[in-house]
Amino acid sequence: MPKLVLSTSTGFSGKAFIVAAMSTACTAWLMHQAPTQSADVSLHASDDIPAHATRDGASATATQSAQTAASTPPAAPAYRVETAQVTHSFSEAATKLGVDAATAAQLARALAGRLDFRRDLQPGSEVRFVFRNDNAPADANAQTNMQTNAQAASQPVAATSASTAASPDDDLPLAVRISTGKTSHDLFLYRNLDGKAFYYGADGQSNAPSFTRYPLAYTRVSSAFSPNRLDPVTHRWAAHEGVDLAAPAGTPVHATARGTVTFAGWETGYGRVIKIKNFGDYSTTFAHLSRFAKSLRAGAQVRTGQVIGYVGSTGWATGPHLHYEVHVDHVPKNPLTVALPQRSGMSAEEKEHFAQQVAQFEPML
Ligand SMILES: [Zn+2]
Repeated sequence: MPKLVLSTSTGFSGKAFIVAAMSTACTAWLMHQAPTQSADVSLHASDDIPAHATRDGASATATQSAQTAASTPPAAPAYRVETAQVTHSFSEAATKLGVDAATAAQLARALAGRLDFRRDLQPGSEVRFVFRNDNAPADANAQTNMQTNAQAASQPVAATSASTAASPDDDLPLAVRISTGKTSHDLFLYRNLDGKAFYYGADGQSNAPSFTRYPLAYTRVSSAFSPNRLDPVTHRWAAHEGVDLAAPAGTPVHATARGTVTFAGWETGYGRVIKIKNFGDYSTTFAHLSRFAKSLRAGAQVRTGQVIGYVGSTGWATGPHLHYEVHVDHVPKNPLTVALPQRSGMSAEEKEHFAQQVAQFEPML
């Protein structure tokens, strides 16, 4: 038992042990034994050294693997590059190469701002994927996972999602190129600290559509989303399928996500109302407006953040406010709490790491 070894040793041999432990050969053993060892050595005078030794050991591991990766550039067999011609659709071509439907949809979403998959992807277009081969030696992506897991382990909350989302043996493409004949678009896999997979362009910018939570600068929530409330105007109990955000009349109202205006006009109760079909299953409703933005009409495309109208009190409203609804698959959800697709920004450190991956995989495309 380590306890016996250490408790019978002198202070000198304790230090010798620590020096030995700092050589990377012993690192794995040290890390396994760390809790017991720390407790035991704390009996000696130099009781904070083992903690340092443990940390040094851990960083030695990371350094060692980084050096391994740097000194042995990834051999070709570590990765495979697969190419398919688009004969029918992108998802069909992607599926042919072993990409599952959810990943194909994620890739399509990541390029949604730049590429119209129906219009731009004609027969003859080509898709190219870089995959990591099974049982391949450690590579940049494996390092990412190692770091992710190490950091997740220190954050118990994140650990669960990391273990489910970041299985290092999954087969997500590391890099993707879609060539339409005229132009090509690249995407690169990146996992955030929770291990969640995202695809970014080489510049690290995400083009995935996202939602903002609030459509205006409001002063207060004057009425909450509720399955049943006494309507202040009709004096009947009914569901309040949105949230009322009080704001001075004339306050600009912004689209919370890009989409297509399906209705802009007058409806009983709502007064002047705009309805937008956003991407995916999402749609949004903006009611009691005093007026619409210029040129806003049914069929118009709107961008996230675009001013679509102005706060008023048209329809059944007791004062100026925006009645705002978010529907997911036609079911009204609480706009203040509903899960919304968000863009995942990268920290400076993540960006640096991502740039290394781009530099590694871009030449393979
Ligand atoms: Zn309302």
